[in-house]
Amino acid sequence: MKFKALGCICIIEIAGTIGAVMKNPAAAGICLTGTCFLTGYTAYLEMRRMQIKICPECKCEIQKSYRICPECGHLFQTGISNEKLTDFIEKEKEAEMTSAQIDKDFEKIETISIEDAITYEEELNDIFQRKNI
Ligand SMILES: [Zn+2]
Repeated sequence: MKFKALGCICIIEIAGTIGAVMKNPAAAGICLTGTCFLTGYTAYLEMRRMQIKICPECKCEIQKSYRICPECGHLFQTGISNEKLTDFIEKEKEAEMTSAQIDKDFEKIETISIEDAITYEEELNDIFQRKNI
């Protein structure tokens, strides 16, 4: 994919350059198109690079927010034991769902349609079941 996209851009640029040498009036337009593609592709690659990281163990591309590689289980926080890490993640999850947040969520149920409420209830049940409450 990487080389294919770059290859296409190169062909457009070469076509534009050859056109310019042969004094083809469309050459400037072709060059501009190639340059636009190149700019867009570079921006796309940069965005991707910001969102992913490479696992040092299996060389997989994974989401930057992951602490554990989903492919091989590699731990990204060094100097921390497995147990501590699980503890840390659990605490973070609890912090995400404070009691105030839950209260607010219940208030929301009153303002949304019945259909939404049913779906919402199912979601809540799911959360409670996972937490074993
Ligand atoms: Zn890995």
